Amino acid sequence: MPKAPSSPKPKILMKKNGPVSRSELVSIRRDIHQHPELGFEENRTSELVKLHLKEFGLKPKSVAGTGVSSVFGKNNGPTLMLRCDLDALPIHEENTFGHKSKHDGVMHACGHDLHTAILLGTAKSLSQDMPSKGRVKLNFQPAEEGLNGADAMIKGGIMDAPKVDAVLGYHIWQQLPVGKIGVVTGPAMAAVDRFEVKISGKGGHAAMPNRSVDPVVVAAQIVTALQTIVSRNLNPLDTGVVTVGAIHGGSAFNIIPPFVTMEGTVRTFSKEAGKTIPKRFKEIVNGVCKAMNAKAEINYIREHSAVVNDAKMASFMRDVARDLFGARNVLECEPSMGGEDHSAYQELVPGCYVFVGAGPTKGEVFPHHHPRFNPDEGVLEVGAELMSEAARRWLAQN
Ligand SMILES: [Zn+2]
Ligand SMILES: [Zn+2]
Repeated sequence: MPKAPSSPKPKILMKKNGPVSRSELVSIRRDIHQHPELGFEENRTSELVKLHLKEFGLKPKSVAGTGVSSVFGKNNGPTLMLRCDLDALPIHEENTFGHKSKHDGVMHACGHDLHTAILLGTAKSLSQDMPSKGRVKLNFQPAEEGLNGADAMIKGGIMDAPKVDAVLGYHIWQQLPVGKIGVVTGPAMAAVDRFEVKISGKGGHAAMPNRSVDPVVVAAQIVTALQTIVSRNLNPLDTGVVTVGAIHGGSAFNIIPPFVTMEGTVRTFSKEAGKTIPKRFKEIVNGVCKAMNAKAEINYIREHSAVVNDAKMASFMRDVARDLFGARNVLECEPSMGGEDHSAYQELVPGCYVFVGAGPTKGEVFPHHHPRFNPDEGVLEVGAELMSEAARRWLAQN
């Protein structure tokens, strides 16, 4: 990874007073976009967040290194947590606009720059007009992209003092046009498992396979056999994905290599699938290896569980969105096989994770994690309005 050039110190781009304007939201988003930082390295982004929270009269606190939390409101009634994520991805940006990433090989290609701007806009709006009871706890979480920043925030005490009673989170969503809100009841994003497998055979001359154990052939059998887990072992009414994303082995055309490595991911929603797939995965890898005289070393990791939206919270969010943007703009959208560590909070308290449409209405739509990812910035106002109204209404009703 090339070393990032030093970035200018963050400055105030959103003032304490006045309405939350599109131009302020855009300037914060573009500033973060130009200075992306990877998980647990979000030092400047964290400084920018704290600077603005102080501007709004709030008291930010560092949690889990680069994470930020802030609690405000009245000391009676429940506490609602609003959460966003701060980190960028190790992707080299291919967009050519003026606010493209200034750091080679690092890019906000998932929309966490917009998430941060939206939560700052929400903080400004709420700091100007809080309900007469209850508290809002802001959670600017580091390291969502595969480093389990949510667990770090929980270990750092984000759910305690005051105890969080419910949580709301959001992801800007390219599959939905800007202006639309997607709410799923129940499982919304999949549980994520990751695996690494090393298959050891016996290397040798490519022309004398009888004197070797060829791990390339074993790996090929395993990749094929793994496809039967979803098609033959999983309940056909349940959902799962088994993907071998990387396979490496060998060095030349005339050599049987001593080993092959494979990596991949498993996605599930139900607890049953979350047990069946890893069990069958290990049986198949070990069984094929045994049958072919090879050996397997398996490292199977549960990254995070599924995001499951509480039925009451989902219906609450749907009502808020309908009142703000009209019923035709609120969709009961499909769950995603993508993962989100927001699941860690929703395992502890009732919550809802919503999709806020950011797909451009014209031109090509590039998906999340694409080097030309370019969401419609209209999502910023929609997101900030949705989250501030949801917080006000939830505190008034609970
Ligand atoms: Zn992402
Ligand atoms: Zn994301």
